[in-house]
Amino acid sequence: MRKKVIISCLLVLLLGFFVRTGMAQKGLKVFISVDMEGIAGVVRYDDVTRGREDFPLFRKLMTQETNAAIEGALAAGATEILVRDGHGSMRNILPDLLHPEAELLLDWSGGPLIMMEGIDETFDAVIFIGYYARAGTPDAVLPATMSLTFYDVFFNGKKTSDAGINAAIAGHFGVPVVLITGDLAATQQGRELLGDIETVVAKEGIGQAAKMLHPKKVQEMIKKKTEKALKRLKDFKPYKLNSPYTMEITFTAEKFANKASWIPGAKRTGDRAVSFTSNDFMEVLRFFSLPVHQAHGR
Ligand SMILES: [Zn+2]
Repeated sequence: MRKKVIISCLLVLLLGFFVRTGMAQKGLKVFISVDMEGIAGVVRYDDVTRGREDFPLFRKLMTQETNAAIEGALAAGATEILVRDGHGSMRNILPDLLHPEAELLLDWSGGPLIMMEGIDETFDAVIFIGYYARAGTPDAVLPATMSLTFYDVFFNGKKTSDAGINAAIAGHFGVPVVLITGDLAATQQGRELLGDIETVVAKEGIGQAAKMLHPKKVQEMIKKKTEKALKRLKDFKPYKLNSPYTMEITFTAEKFANKASWIPGAKRTGDRAVSFTSNDFMEVLRFFSLPVHQAHGR
């Protein structure tokens, strides 16, 4: 009888130890959305276009920066990591060179989440790797907003970037963005919008040129900043827009606006501008994703 009591006491103590050390708790679940324009070394579209001479090199560097974020996330206690390839064909990250602890989401899904496909409310944090500034930003490396046929995109009246749109998608699912990496302009715009998030500056635009750090240095910084950001996860809040939600696209040519204006519910707001308003966030994304798919030939 006494033996039983001692064993029971030991079990209770052991359980307490596991709970205190977090061994009985679920680890962090991290979503990493990766683009290519903001990767260290990239300076022009040739670098990020399939079939061009230097593309294989930049695919490798994109994969290495992603691995750096995965290593940082694992060091901070992540147990589930999903990597979303978010550039062009969405088939750039090299699966065999990717860190084996992460899952990889490749290719266009056909759905409205695009660069955030795979996100849901079960994730704890979102990380943006290789991002860039919104269309028209001076001294930025390859600035654009979702498509080269978009001159500007306004989300609830505010000129936005890919990071802004994707942060709002994460926010819709209640997940905060904790780190953005890319060129200086992209990280500055990220902080303007999202507050005190962590950043890694891989390069600085000087007109159409760029001053770069060595990719290895950038990768070290990404690993460190990812770990730091996830360890202060409680400091970050999901970026939530208020309803009704309005998305307005100004296109680079009238013909694109004409096409988009035929989407049910869309309103022509200018010669080259179309807008869409709804209380349903996903409905606005569905409107927005059609011209994005079209521009990418999907
Ligand atoms: Zn891209």
